[in-house]
Amino acid sequence: MTFQYSRGFAHQLDEHDVLKDFRQWFHFPTNVSGETLLYFCGNSLGLQPRTAKQALDSELEDWAKFGVEGHFHGKKPWFHYHKFLSAHSAEIVGAKEHEVVVMNQLTVNLHLLMVSFYRPTQQKYKIIMEAGAFPSDMYAVESQVKFHGFNYDDAVIEIKPRNGEHTLRTEDILACIEDHKNELALVFFSGVQYYTGQLFDIKSITAKAHQVGALAGFDLAHTAGNVDIQLHDWHVDFAAWCSYKYLNSGPGNVSGIYIHEKHCMNEKTPRFAGWWGHKEDQRFLMKRGFIPEPGAAGWQMSNAPVFGMAVHAASLEIFHKAGITKIREKSKKLTAYLEYVINHVQEHHAGISFEIITPKNPDERGAQLSILIKENGKALFDHLTAKGVIADWREPNVIRLAPAPLYNRYDDIFALGEILKSFPS
Ligand SMILES: *Cc1c(COP(=O)(O)O)cnc(C)c1O
Repeated sequence: MTFQYSRGFAHQLDEHDVLKDFRQWFHFPTNVSGETLLYFCGNSLGLQPRTAKQALDSELEDWAKFGVEGHFHGKKPWFHYHKFLSAHSAEIVGAKEHEVVVMNQLTVNLHLLMVSFYRPTQQKYKIIMEAGAFPSDMYAVESQVKFHGFNYDDAVIEIKPRNGEHTLRTEDILACIEDHKNELALVFFSGVQYYTGQLFDIKSITAKAHQVGALAGFDLAHTAGNVDIQLHDWHVDFAAWCSYKYLNSGPGNVSGIYIHEKHCMNEKTPRFAGWWGHKEDQRFLMKRGFIPEPGAAGWQMSNAPVFGMAVHAASLEIFHKAGITKIREKSKKLTAYLEYVINHVQEHHAGISFEIITPKNPDERGAQLSILIKENGKALFDHLTAKGVIADWREPNVIRLAPAPLYNRYDDIFALGEILKSFPS
């Protein structure tokens, strides 16, 4: 479709947007004068669903009313609480219901999954990951290889983009897996790269890892709720994600995990255990000898943090109503409009010069553009902030903008264009 740089055109796109009504389900931050800010940080902390408070209140009420009996007599009995989130979580990542569970937080879950799926031998012990991965992932991997007695520089292979390029080519990732096939234990990648916004080819990476006898796991922090994926059909071994970025469930909230059924239905798959992963009908018998509940639920350790999960459940309900396919469809168009608008501004504004480092192909990115500003990046970012735009600054010179399809409008993007144009050159 050909875009136009005009408010009327943006309004027309909003008018025809099948998801336009979802915007009113969210709270928008305001400035000191009470004016609504332009929010482009849904990749970092998604906005609060209006249903969140009620969901949380409902659990507080049950606690007040039932005390410990809330485990069985609450409106949503806490004993089974994780089950209220599994179906909608599975929809979002393309998994079977028993392959997912919501528990703990993201980095904790990455460790627990590596306990099960990074099982190095003297021969096969290496991990391939993207260079410049999110720091928590680097630290998690570093500590895992050290824990097993290996040395980071030898055991971890970081793939870098080619000279002069910002993102990775799938062919280079696959070639790297082939090159290290004899020593490779695990390929561990993000789904959507947090810095560049690149969406990796999860299916091909997984197939190649399996071809050389390695496993494939993904950190979906920037992927879940952002792009449509099919973890089960792509035979991904394991994945984890957080709930507070595109999934709008609040700061530091719970994480979801996925484990392919070939692993999670096998009770011999090694894991670190706790009482909540014990076979459910015997959980309260308090006997020795761990018998896992079948499925990803058998990786739970502690009883469910119900308050956080209640908010996450309320948010998942919105995703279920909108449908990830429709969300992705709108997202592609919305991000393309953002790309068009900022390119338009660059062409017409002598004082702004940037390069979009996120891939141009909509199938290789999600709802984020990372913009490398060539000069005065911080001044431009400060200008945006002063004009009521919430975006994200990454040292030394990158602005990340994420239009979230559930609550951002085409009009927000046009308004951003006008603010960029007002940057004094
Ligand atoms: C946001 C993010 C995290 C954050 O981890 P927490 O354990 O939730 O603090 C980890 N990894 C990636 C790739 C992220 O984008």
